[in-house]
Amino acid sequence: MTRSAVFLDRDGTIIEERGYLDRLDMLTLFPWTADALRLLKRAGFATVVVTNQSAIGRGLIDEAFLETVHSAINRRLEPAHAAVDRFYYCPHFVDSKVERYRQACRCRKPAPGLIEQACQDMDLDPARSVMVGDRWLDVACARAAGTGAVLVRSGHGAHEADAPPAGAQADAILDNLMEAAGWILRRATRV
Ligand SMILES: [Mg+2]
Ligand SMILES: [Zn+2]
Repeated sequence: MTRSAVFLDRDGTIIEERGYLDRLDMLTLFPWTADALRLLKRAGFATVVVTNQSAIGRGLIDEAFLETVHSAINRRLEPAHAAVDRFYYCPHFVDSKVERYRQACRCRKPAPGLIEQACQDMDLDPARSVMVGDRWLDVACARAAGTGAVLVRSGHGAHEADAPPAGAQADAILDNLMEAAGWILRRATRV
């Protein structure tokens, strides 16, 4: 495993937190997202979204709609020469009416399954990578996967940041993804 990555939570980290996003007009990138992703990409990091999407298992959206949302994100990033390289998502919900979604899986954050799958598929080194998210479950996922962990104060981070669960510790707590990108780039030049 050779390449470094920045793993990104989606809702509250790269786009506005909107609960279950089930209409394309609810999709809003944060104003700093494109610039932050361009900087990371230019520095050679793979950019990989890892997102819990139990809305699929709950029957609120289907996988085709989720793909539409993810294509729309990249279309909006393109003018800024930024991109998410790949999107990994957990569609599962333990009480789903649909059998293939009904499972206590290894991929729902805070479990590390999505990051592990991405590392395998894309030849990424978790030890040289960082996960950025707005919730402590993202930090727990990072720890389980062996990546660095940055909590941002956007989205749920606005209230979660000041209330860490017992024993939880992020490598940094920063205002948003742009600050996280700066932190990651400074850290990368030290190693
Ligand atoms: Mg989030
Ligand atoms: Zn899952």
